[in-house]
Amino acid sequence: MTLMTITPEDQEWLHRLVMLRLPDQLTPESRAGRDCMWCLAALDATSIDLEPGVTRFRSCAVCYLARLAWAITWGDWYTHLQSCGACQQGALCMVARGRRVQNEAACAALGETLRCTAGCLLPIGSGERAVAVVWDGLTQLYPGYAHTVCLPGEAPR
Ligand SMILES: [Zn+2]
Ligand SMILES: [Zn+2]
Ligand SMILES: [Zn+2]
Repeated sequence: MTLMTITPEDQEWLHRLVMLRLPDQLTPESRAGRDCMWCLAALDATSIDLEPGVTRFRSCAVCYLARLAWAITWGDWYTHLQSCGACQQGALCMVARGRRVQNEAACAALGETLRCTAGCLLPIGSGERAVAVVWDGLTQLYPGYAHTVCLPGEAPR
């Protein structure tokens, strides 16, 4: 998936991924749609309505696109893992490696590191074997990551 080939369905899914990253704390200004949800900057005409008609949440274009880049690269990595025979067998795969590097870069742009959300909860170093996973949260499924050794049913290697 690239920006050039995104279908409306993809767009909806990517937007849902972005919305899972809403901050835990809202300020009165961001709740009212006057400040960006993420960077708390005052908004101008280029701002994006995150859930039109539902909430007033808005984002500046920079914050939204940075999270969209994270969602696209996470989705690229995750969908590759689901369809690649080498990856399914735990073999080294350069395509998966490339997609992971892109997602790591998108994460770093958000000031974050990959974290083993489906396992030990520790940060994932770029030299550690890991995969993009969907994990079961309290209320819904979340996009996340896991060390390969933290996946259920995987023997340490
Ligand atoms: Zn912002
Ligand atoms: Zn692969
Ligand atoms: Zn782990």
